[in-house]
Amino acid sequence: MLRPPQISWAALGPILFFSLLVLLVLGRTPPPRTIIAPATALQLPLAPERPVAPGATTPTPAPLAGALLQTATLDIVTAEGLLSPAEQQQLAAALDRALQDVVQRFGTAPADRIDVYVGLEPACGLHGIAYTDVRTVQVFTCPDLPMARAVSILAHEFVHQLCHDRYGDRHLSADLLLAEGMATWGAGAYWLGDAPHFRAFVRPWLESGAALPLGESYVGRPISDMNKLYYQWASFVEFLIERDGREAFDRLYLTGQHAPASADYLAVYGRSFDELEAEWRAWVLTG
Ligand SMILES: [Zn+2]
Repeated sequence: MLRPPQISWAALGPILFFSLLVLLVLGRTPPPRTIIAPATALQLPLAPERPVAPGATTPTPAPLAGALLQTATLDIVTAEGLLSPAEQQQLAAALDRALQDVVQRFGTAPADRIDVYVGLEPACGLHGIAYTDVRTVQVFTCPDLPMARAVSILAHEFVHQLCHDRYGDRHLSADLLLAEGMATWGAGAYWLGDAPHFRAFVRPWLESGAALPLGESYVGRPISDMNKLYYQWASFVEFLIERDGREAFDRLYLTGQHAPASADYLAVYGRSFDELEAEWRAWVLTG
C-alpha cells in the first residue's frame, strides 16, 4: 500500500509501500463460498490489514533480533522463535527464488542488496511493507500461517524495490494505481495462483458488475475492496504493457503525482484515463 495520497509525503520520511494483506491460499483448501476469483489464489475478505491511517505517524522498520541469512542478493533476518533453523534455510531459498522470478518478469535487476525482515505478527495477520529508499522490505506473519504466503507478499515488495531502482526517485511520487498495479503484476504467479494472468483473474468481477472504478482510492474502503483494486490495477498494468509496450509504460510511470490515475495518460497514450479505462474493460471482457 502506498500511503494515502492526501498525506504530505515529504514530511513523513521514508516512503512506504504496504502490500495489502492478500491471503494467498497457496497450499490450502479454500473455504466454501465467498470466493469470487480463482479459489487457489485469493480469499476475500479474510485478510486482516494494518493500513496507515491518514495523517498517522509512519511506522519505522522494526528492529528484529535473529540470525542473519544471506543469499546472493538478500540479507534476511527472521524474528526469534518464528522459524526453526531448517525453516529459515528453506525461507531464504524461497525468497531468493522469488526475487529471481520477479526480476525476470519485471525486466531489470535490483541495484544493490536488499534487507529483508520477517517479523512476528502477534495477532496472526499478514502484512508487508517496503522502505525502498533504504532498500528494506518487511513482512509480518505468524507460525500458524504457511510461509509461502509471506513469500508471496515479499514478492510484491521486491517489485516495489525494483521500481525504485528502475525509475529512481520519481518512483516515490508514482501514481498509486501504477505503483501497486506494477508490484502486483510483477509478483505474477505469487499472486495469481492458478489463474493464467490478471485479465482472467479480474474478469468475473467485471462480468458480475462487482469491479470498482480504477481511479478509486482504497482509503476508507474495506480490505476486500483494497484487495480487489490491487488485482484490477495489476490487470490495467498488464493491459497497458501488452497493448502499447513497456517503453511507453515506463514513460507513464515517471509522470505520477501520488493519487490513483494521476499520471499523464493523455501525453503518453493520446487518450484520457477514462478512455483507457473503458478500453481496459472491453479488453478484459473480450479476452
Ligand atoms: Zn504494494
